[in-house]
Amino acid sequence: MKRDVALILGDGIGPEVMGQASRIVTEAGAEVNWIEAQAGEGALLRCGSTLPQETVDIIEQTKVALKGPLTTPVGGGYRSVNIRLRQHFDLYANVRRTRTYEGVATKYDNIDIITVRENTEGLYCGIGSNPDEHTAMSTRLITEAAERRIITYAFELAGKMGKKKVTALHKANILKATDGLFLRCFEDISAEFPNIAHEDMIIDAACMKLVTDPENFEIIVTTNLFGDIVSDLCSGLVGGLGLTCGNNIGEAAAIFEAIHGTAPAMAGRNNANPSACINAGIEMLKYIGQEQCALRIENSLIKTLKEGKVRTKDLGGSASCSMFADEVIRNME
Ligand code: ATP
Repeated sequence: MKRDVALILGDGIGPEVMGQASRIVTEAGAEVNWIEAQAGEGALLRCGSTLPQETVDIIEQTKVALKGPLTTPVGGGYRSVNIRLRQHFDLYANVRRTRTYEGVATKYDNIDIITVRENTEGLYCGIGSNPDEHTAMSTRLITEAAERRIITYAFELAGKMGKKKVTALHKANILKATDGLFLRCFEDISAEFPNIAHEDMIIDAACMKLVTDPENFEIIVTTNLFGDIVSDLCSGLVGGLGLTCGNNIGEAAAIFEAIHGTAPAMAGRNNANPSACINAGIEMLKYIGQEQCALRIENSLIKTLKEGKVRTKDLGGSASCSMFADEVIRNME
């Protein structure tokens, strides 16, 4: 029986890259019934809201969504739709895997880093104020419950994936209250997983290490903003934002997306790389238990990138977004 999946094409390059990714999922023979939903700036223009209630209802029903990048209009007090979705569905784990692909030129051959980012609080909690026009404050909310939950998730993921080490990134030397609490939770929980090595690193030193010695990292666990930044850094190590996807996982729902944004300057040109969204589609299929189909697309994507006959501009080629997707479909066995 086909599984209902919400499909949000999104803004900017979203409709192009998501259109191709969803086409590939369908062409691979996935038992998926797409239910299109609106969100972002396009939804504001079409339906009068950046997150229409109908979209929330659809995801409540499907419990799983493949989502394109969204624009939050500047001014007008609009809150980020991504953050609202993550908070509404309590998608507490943001899991972003970056790995080297044969055929994509990088300095390193053997990167496979999974960033597990706390997705509901930290500096993204939405608490802030302007006491006067020259002063602004943002609250960095860290709770023991949320940090213990994400750290436990990271160790359990390491166990499931056969990873040997979890590294916590923080700035506890300066952010003594918030990252001090995060680090205490990390020390506590790491003791419950004696078979998995653990280490902690100050975020700035870790960024240097990630650039000079990335093959030394396996699973990173960190707070919301640090995770956002570090996962983009990791993406840059393996060929750029066009490749990496992010899984937003909660107990009751999950939303799969590319980690890149709407890249407005590229929109409408059919030259963005759809690989990050294709990877999001692969992760979505694994999540709903259609592993065979996921593997079919994964092998084809790996083959297409390795052969390098058809490459998008960001990876040094001249193929369009749709030509690349055509090649992935051709390479599916
Ligand atoms: P937003 O405001 O939505 O975050 P942005 O352009 O500021 O958009 P990103 O969309 O994350 O941020 O993109 C940053 C840059 O990375 C883009 O300008 C583009 O050069 C590159 N990029 C992002 N996504 C892709 C992609 N799918 N294919 C090729 N290049 C990409």
